[in-house]
Amino acid sequence: MAEMFHVGTCPICQEGTLGLRSCGQCEAIAIVCDECDVAWSTPDLSAKPTVSRGADLPCPTCSAPLYAAGSRWATNEEIARRAWLQTAIDAGELKLSKGEAYAPEAN
Ligand SMILES: [Zn+2]
Ligand SMILES: [Zn+2]
Repeated sequence: MAEMFHVGTCPICQEGTLGLRSCGQCEAIAIVCDECDVAWSTPDLSAKPTVSRGADLPCPTCSAPLYAAGSRWATNEEIARRAWLQTAIDAGELKLSKGEAYAPEAN
């Protein structure tokens, strides 16, 4: 079973679990919602997110498709290397937990 890190519930649809997706092109980590297909590049979830275009969700940093080959769920080590994520987790703005990854699972 694939696993992913969660950082809470989506403030837009109030249903989706927010996952941390690592972009295969620019290696940025995006916060993504599987239910309403949106992505953020910062912990400010009140900011306007990137929305899906057709079947794919573009990376908020470089616009590469976040569910294409090469992109995957972020690992603990990758999360620890991103100061913006660690700062938000330490401040309690994002609650990090681990659970079952949702589809689509590209890798
Ligand atoms: Zn959502
Ligand atoms: Zn990217």
